[in-house]
Amino acid sequence: MPGIVLDRIEKSFGETRVLKGVSLAFDAGSFVSLVGPSGCGKTTLLRIIAGLEQADRGTVTIAGRAVSGMRAADRDVAMVFQNYALYPHLTVEQNMALPLVMRRLSTLERTPFIGRLVSGTDQRRSAIRAEVEEAARLLSIDHLMERRPGQLSGGQRQRVALGRAIVRHPKAFLMDEPLSNLDAALRHDMRRELVELHRRVGVTTVYVTHDQAEAMTMSDRVAVMLGGNVLQFGSPREVYDQPATIDVARFIGSPRINILPAEIGPEGQVMIAGHATGQVGPRSGGKLDIGIRPEHLTVGEIGFAVDVRHVEFLGSEVLVYAREPRQGSDIILRLAPEAWESAPSRQVLRVTPMAGRMLAFDTSGKRVE
Ligand code: ATP
Repeated sequence: MPGIVLDRIEKSFGETRVLKGVSLAFDAGSFVSLVGPSGCGKTTLLRIIAGLEQADRGTVTIAGRAVSGMRAADRDVAMVFQNYALYPHLTVEQNMALPLVMRRLSTLERTPFIGRLVSGTDQRRSAIRAEVEEAARLLSIDHLMERRPGQLSGGQRQRVALGRAIVRHPKAFLMDEPLSNLDAALRHDMRRELVELHRRVGVTTVYVTHDQAEAMTMSDRVAVMLGGNVLQFGSPREVYDQPATIDVARFIGSPRINILPAEIGPEGQVMIAGHATGQVGPRSGGKLDIGIRPEHLTVGEIGFAVDVRHVEFLGSEVLVYAREPRQGSDIILRLAPEAWESAPSRQVLRVTPMAGRMLAFDTSGKRVE
């Protein structure tokens, strides 16, 4: 079932083409991240889904309804921003109730039978209160209802902003870097809470972030964007293990992937810095860039030599920053502490990629099998 469908969305600001024909389909109820470096167009795309910005070309469909040209208020989506956008003079409860009160007021304005509606006011007020209380319980902020935003921590404010979105029962949650104002530890906790919340309410969620780790840990699927295009749309596992292009490989994963120029033999043998390091698919020789994740390199008696420059011991793993001197490539290895301790040397390591773990990219940056 389609939750949100974007079809050939284009957008320019003046001469700058910010979105160059983006097509994506998000399953109903899924958690999808738009991820990419600053300026790639992810916020603009989110704002187009929300109706806060109009596309120059292309269509947006939400829960089966074409919404292009429709006002933001009529799209039945809830946006959560990084600055929370709470009203400082209202209590938590009033902030959360606000969208429901506004909705009721706009119904009153439109109806000619105001008298009849007003007589149902008490009933409606208690319905709103019940809705707000339920959301507050879900977010564990029910003990803060009488406070004002100034009396809350960053994490609590974020929960109020989420609560205000939840009470509307929207067709989609649209979130723009909602955790970026929180400190690292809290951000980590809130990631888990957001995923848990999504599982409970089951609303299609589009999440914008430039933090690939956030996108990878929270999402069912990730759309990797660069320069106004979607380079790949897949599960976190797919974009990590089978990146479509060298740019996706570079953007996803921390520490970042090693990229090494290689000569390919007639049977697909890979030669890195003059050493046979394994095999990619059969091809008739030539040059390729080989991508190897830091955890897919082993050290031992054979392989190409690298000079160790810097070592970080992280407890469960050791990151070794090194340089391959023949081609002048920087290399990062992620080793188990035992592998580092039993390495034959601490200055010069001999390095070999694990079998089947080399990703090959052609000169245009596309991955080749
Ligand atoms: P960030 O992570 O920095 O927010 P982003 O990927 O979300 O980046 P957008 O905010 O979508 O990127 O912006 C994409 C490009 O469009 C940028 O070059 C930005 O300067 C430009 N842009 C965005 N909004 C406007 C606007 N209203 N007027 C002119 N240019 C804009």
